[in-house]
Amino acid sequence: MSGPRALFLLLVAAIWLFADAHIFVYHRFGDDRYPSTNTSIAELKREFEYLKRAGYRVVKMKTLVEALKRGKDIPDDWVVLTIDDGYKSFYEKGLEIFKEYNYPFTLFVATKPTEKGYGDYMSWQQINDCSQYGEIGLHSHAHPHLTRLNRDQIEQDTKKGIELFKKRLGFYPEYYAYPYGEYDDRVKKIIKGFGFRAIFNQNSGAVAKESDILDLDRTALVGKSDIARKLKLKYLKASWIEPKEYPKDSILKRIRIKIYEESPYAHIYVTDYGWKKVKVSEGKIEFNPGFKLKRERVRLIVKVKDSKINTKILVK
Ligand SMILES: [Zn+2]
Repeated sequence: MSGPRALFLLLVAAIWLFADAHIFVYHRFGDDRYPSTNTSIAELKREFEYLKRAGYRVVKMKTLVEALKRGKDIPDDWVVLTIDDGYKSFYEKGLEIFKEYNYPFTLFVATKPTEKGYGDYMSWQQINDCSQYGEIGLHSHAHPHLTRLNRDQIEQDTKKGIELFKKRLGFYPEYYAYPYGEYDDRVKKIIKGFGFRAIFNQNSGAVAKESDILDLDRTALVGKSDIARKLKLKYLKASWIEPKEYPKDSILKRIRIKIYEESPYAHIYVTDYGWKKVKVSEGKIEFNPGFKLKRERVRLIVKVKDSKINTKILVK
C-alpha cells in the first residue's frame, strides 16, 4: 500500500487516537420539503461511503449499550446510527441505502402518528419490516415538549407508547429518545422510572466508558454535514451545577460546572452568544455572563482541548 490511500489510513489512525464512539441521528431522507430535518440520498451515500472508507464500524445499539453496561472501553471506531420520528421517507428511500451498506440502525418511533395513520409516518407493518434490519426504540407517544408537561402527563404519554409497542410490535421498548431532544433533571427522573436500558438526548458529542447510559449524546446529521469533524468530538465528563433549568427571567446569570479533565481553561458556548474562553481552577468553572436568553431552547456547551465537549440544554 502506498500513495494517497496509505496517507488516508494514517490520517484515520491519528483520528482514532483521539475519538470515542459516536451516535448519529437522522430524520427524513430524500424529502426536500423539510430542509431542516432532511438528508438527501446523495448525501446519505456520501456519509456512508466516508464511514466505510475511513474504516468505521457501524454497530448495533445493542452492542454499544452492552459494552457500556459492562463498563468496557468503547472502541474509537464504533458508530451507531439512529433515525427519529418514523417518517415514511425512511422506509421508502433511506432503508435501501442502509441495506446496501449492511448498516444496522435504531429507529425511534413516536407511536401516536403511526397508530392514527398520519400520512407522513410509517405504518406498524412497515415498522415491523424495519425490525428485520434494525432495532426499534420509543420516541414518546404524542411527541410532546416534555419540559412543559407535569409528571402525570409525562407518565401517561410514556405509558401509552409502551402499551402500543407491546400491542403492535410485541415487546417492551428498551430505548427511549426525548422528543426534540428536550429534557431537564425532572423529566429525566420521570423517564428513568420506566426502566429503559438506555436513554438518548440530541446533544452533539460522543460516547465513552464514563458516559451516562441514561443520557447518551447523539449528534444530528441533517443537510450537508461535516461528518469527519463530528467524528472528532470526544466525551467530556462534566457536572452542571448551575443553572439547573431555564432561568425564569431569561437572564443567564451564572454558569457553574465541574469538569473531570485537567485543563487551565475551557470554552463555553451559549446559543446566540457563541464561544467564550473561561478559566478552570481545580476542575471548577464559574462564569457570570449575564446574557439575556433569546430563544425557548438554548444550548450551553463546555469544551476543552479543542474537541472534548459536554452539553446542557435549557428549555423554557
Ligand atoms: Zn422527534
